[in-house]
Amino acid sequence: KTFEQLGFPELLKGLYTMKFTKPSKIQERAFPLLISDPPKNMIGQSQSGTGKTATIVLTMLTRLNLSIKAPQAICLTPTRELARQIIDVVQEMSKFTDITSELVVKDTLHNGKHARSQIIVGTPGRVSDVIKRKQLPVNDVKVFVLDEADNMLDRDCLGDQSIRIRNMLTKDPQIVLFSATFPEHVRTFSARFASGANEISL
Ligand code: AMP
Repeated sequence: KTFEQLGFPELLKGLYTMKFTKPSKIQERAFPLLISDPPKNMIGQSQSGTGKTATIVLTMLTRLNLSIKAPQAICLTPTRELARQIIDVVQEMSKFTDITSELVVKDTLHNGKHARSQIIVGTPGRVSDVIKRKQLPVNDVKVFVLDEADNMLDRDCLGDQSIRIRNMLTKDPQIVLFSATFPEHVRTFSARFASGANEISL
């Protein structure tokens, strides 16, 4: 399958600058669920190196309503470094568009600054903080992604914080969760976080 067949026309310029000619295996299996109408919740087992980041980024980009200038997609990661890698791909892929995106981690968002970009990538502690302070409006959030759920659960309270953020979202968003491994505790968490999700693995 090609990206065109999966339904990504306006974004293709961005894809071509990334030198992606066709979807990776995980992308080919995930996109029909992720960008379908209505979109489906998904739990994906995938290591890095499989094209997982682009899967997350393309899903967020595709689902935006471009006329709404407020956060519509949030992606949480267990570390700032991973959040940075994801926002870099968001910015690379959206550079021919007016889409706005920003990193919300400890040292990028100063107290009092509001996060109003359409795509937000960050760590659970900082993101829940800014939502609680009403500096990140969540009324329009319709895609909520959790990356590296297994690493998230290895770090104190990140799992609970993620669930709390999920519960602060007003709309019932599409939930996407990725994890490299699925030991019992990750499986239990995933079922709670993304109930009724389609599971894919590679
Ligand atoms: P990731 O699994 O997100 O760490 O991605 C691994 C590498 O694959 C990154 O360098 C991506 O830029 C690249 N990549 C992701 N999707 C594709 C694709 N469809 N075609 C070619 N390269 C890709």
